Amino acid sequence: MLPDNPDRLAAETLEKYGRFVNAGLQRLYRFANVSTVEWEARGAVIHDAHGKEYLDCSGGPAIFNVGHRHPKVVAAVKEQLDRMPMSVRALPRHLEAELAELLAEITPGDLQYTFFCNSGAEANEGALKLARLVTKRAEIIGTTGAFHGKTMGALSASGRDTYKTPFEPLVPGFRHVAFGNLDAMASAVSARTAAVILEPIQGEGGVVIPPDGYLPGVRRICDRHGALLIVDEVQTGLGRTGKMFACEHWGVTPDIMTMAKALGGGVVPIGAFTGRPHLWKALEQNPYLHSTTFGGNPLACAAGIATINVILEERLVERAAELGTYFLERLRPVARRHSRFVKDVRGKGLLIGMEFTDPDLVLLVTAEALTRGVIVFYSLNKPETFRIAPPLIISREQIDRAVAVLDESVAVAGALVDQVEQKAETR
Ligand code: PLP
Repeated sequence: MLPDNPDRLAAETLEKYGRFVNAGLQRLYRFANVSTVEWEARGAVIHDAHGKEYLDCSGGPAIFNVGHRHPKVVAAVKEQLDRMPMSVRALPRHLEAELAELLAEITPGDLQYTFFCNSGAEANEGALKLARLVTKRAEIIGTTGAFHGKTMGALSASGRDTYKTPFEPLVPGFRHVAFGNLDAMASAVSARTAAVILEPIQGEGGVVIPPDGYLPGVRRICDRHGALLIVDEVQTGLGRTGKMFACEHWGVTPDIMTMAKALGGGVVPIGAFTGRPHLWKALEQNPYLHSTTFGGNPLACAAGIATINVILEERLVERAAELGTYFLERLRPVARRHSRFVKDVRGKGLLIGMEFTDPDLVLLVTAEALTRGVIVFYSLNKPETFRIAPPLIISREQIDRAVAVLDESVAVAGALVDQVEQKAETR
């Protein structure tokens, strides 16, 4: 059911954003001509408070791998909600143990133990701490363009100065090398290195897919120096790229893998890091050396278990691979048609990036697409690129609709840019 007075609700919400949330966000929504609020969602579709339908091609971003409100995830969470949503922690939690076992089964190689938390940044914080604890080394090597979250440790590992410089000094011991460059990695890693942390495919960096030998090469470099490899699968994990985890495209097993986003099925937030058994020895003597109140809570674990089961039962990994190819094949002609504005379109599975010649074009195209009922999202560390990361249950017809809308939106945004340029020339 829609609200009685959606106009008033929208106006009041934006006004409150201006006074109580963030006036910058209020301005952004106004720039995009947004005069409504989000209201309900199901599958790959959401509705605003006015009843207008949007195809979600990026929601979250990238948290709705099983779609919005998948009935099995919702049922599992409701059942747990009615019984015991949060934990007292004095007794063991069977859902936490069950989800950890499931993760040991679906993660590659001998990854086995899991620590649960609440977000991607928190998962990376824990992984970085564990690497320092186990290796007794301090140095962490990250990559430029990387995004690992915005808490102090995760931010220190990330690779875009815009988000880092205002908060300096960050955590000491972090260095960065170019993503995709094995020589740079080889010269950076040494016997002082606790860990290398990277995304197998950079998401917020604008969907950057490394050369094929890169990840196996980084694995070898880490092994040579006794450094751990932390692979951040927060965005790429759980089927998104056409493998259960993106590092499997290159047959690489990290020492620690971090996840979040899609793990909660788009219903309850949850983060996690999973690692090799010998690493957890360092956490045995004092299991509270690293801890968090809500980690492994029953509600989130119920969502996680149901989500993984849905991904397996509905063969969403295979579906992402197939539909990703379909989507990309249809976007390539759009990119060619608008080659003056679109620099590149690339992707793996249903993680696709469209790169423009100018970040302003991304703002214009995403705003146009939103008006036409398709949601895509810009990339935090590469504002020239927007991401397409739809629910893996999206249909071919919905993809066709998204492509048509993006085609129109690029045409409209491009015409606007041309008009502005012509005006500037005639002045
Ligand atoms: N790591 C990656 C690869 C991400 O894409 C993100 C978020 O976009 C994070 C970490 C941070 O996750 P969160 O926003 O849940 O802290």
